[in-house]
Amino acid sequence: AQRRRWLFGDQLGPHFLDGTRQKVLMIESKRVFARRRFHRQKAHLILSAMRHRADELGRRCDYRRTDTFREALDRIDEPLDVCQPTSWAALHFCDQLATERDLERLPARGFATARQDFAAWADGRQGKRLLMEDFYREARARLDVLMEGSEPVTGQWNYDHDNREPPPRADTLGLPEPYWPTEDAIDDEVRADLDAWEAEGSVSFVGQDAPRTFAATRREALAALHDFVEHRLPTFGTYEDAMLREDRWMSHSMLSAPLNLGLLDPLEVVRAAEDAYREGHAPIAAVEGFVRQLIGWRDYIWNLYWWFGEDYRDRNKLNQRRQLPDWFADLDPSGTDAACLQNAVGSVAETGWAHHIPRLMVLGNYALQQGWKPQAVLDWFHRSFVDGYDWVMVPNVIGMSQHADGGQLATKPYLSGGSYINKMSDFCGSCRYDPKKRVGEDACPFTGGYWRFLHKHRERFAGNHRMAQAIRGLDRLSDLDELLAEG
Ligand code: SF4
Repeated sequence: AQRRRWLFGDQLGPHFLDGTRQKVLMIESKRVFARRRFHRQKAHLILSAMRHRADELGRRCDYRRTDTFREALDRIDEPLDVCQPTSWAALHFCDQLATERDLERLPARGFATARQDFAAWADGRQGKRLLMEDFYREARARLDVLMEGSEPVTGQWNYDHDNREPPPRADTLGLPEPYWPTEDAIDDEVRADLDAWEAEGSVSFVGQDAPRTFAATRREALAALHDFVEHRLPTFGTYEDAMLREDRWMSHSMLSAPLNLGLLDPLEVVRAAEDAYREGHAPIAAVEGFVRQLIGWRDYIWNLYWWFGEDYRDRNKLNQRRQLPDWFADLDPSGTDAACLQNAVGSVAETGWAHHIPRLMVLGNYALQQGWKPQAVLDWFHRSFVDGYDWVMVPNVIGMSQHADGGQLATKPYLSGGSYINKMSDFCGSCRYDPKKRVGEDACPFTGGYWRFLHKHRERFAGNHRMAQAIRGLDRLSDLDELLAEG
């Protein structure tokens, strides 16, 4: 007989079940929310999504609200199966349970490249770097996405050159409002429960509460997908790496939250984008840029999380030790005068979200320059973002953003001064700092921070050919002493 499928809270789409009759177990563990100070809207989204799924499944679903997973599982005798969970900790928990009870462990779902396919690709590299671009091209060919036979449609794999423009000289991109979900009685109940938990002191949150912004059900996720393809995908690529003060969403899809809840399968999202290209609705540069994020970057990160091993999260090759200041940890934008940081931290406080460029170029870049401990930065990203899960944040923060792995994931740190932020955003005009100044009253903290970082890590990066030019720039600074004294 078919086993009851135990679903974790990020395995909520139909592709995590086999057939329409399979029985389901879901466990809502309060302890999960007590472990970290989650963003209030993240806790709400996860609980809302789980409870909505249970409601849809009706009598097929055994939904348990308990303190811990173990407590719930100890009361269930039935044989279970479970798809591979998305963190090392949950994987070990399942492995342990399988020695104690009848639990069948199945491969992961919800990703486009399986772990064994990634391992075959990586093993075949024979010591060469595991480049995202190579991985992405292999995935496109294997999955037959934007291909004509064995060649990419149009003959060109990569449209980065056409994408990633500075923002237009306008306050917004002028796009229609994105799709917003409508809350219902389940959301009311979630809100009341979170209020009660907070009042009794068993959990505490950061960030503001607000009507739910991200899809929590399959129906909502599909509506958000179709709305994105219709209205935003055609302009996705051009301003992918730009930031606008008054336009938080720009052309971004906001699908990372429903994707990471398992509500959408990445391949159905990719096929919808590909159809838009083939029907002439969206240009190749936009569609290629979007597809690259999904079957390229997202799956690359997912697989590196496992490939790099469990202790990757503890890396701190730059020996960064400082703790996060309270204003940053508490998501209080009034703690800084820097307009870009105020905007990015404010966006996270208000929505639990900011697109990938404020994350990397503003928040992560600042953390790196300030010498904050990578594990503290990792924890901050994990709990503050609605789409943050262990598998996605560990490689992105430890590797891509904080370079704490010594260059395993990226050959150089993601580091920039104020002039680059100025080029890619409209923040600096309203800021009390001057992006060109590295010392003095109105010195931009990013510009000073950029040089101080290079100075501090000079020896490490001197031999890195992608950093050598920047390091040589240090020798041309006439005000280095003053710069270091201000740090
Ligand atoms: Fe940010 Fe510096 Fe520009 Fe101010 S001047 S917005 S601190 S980059």
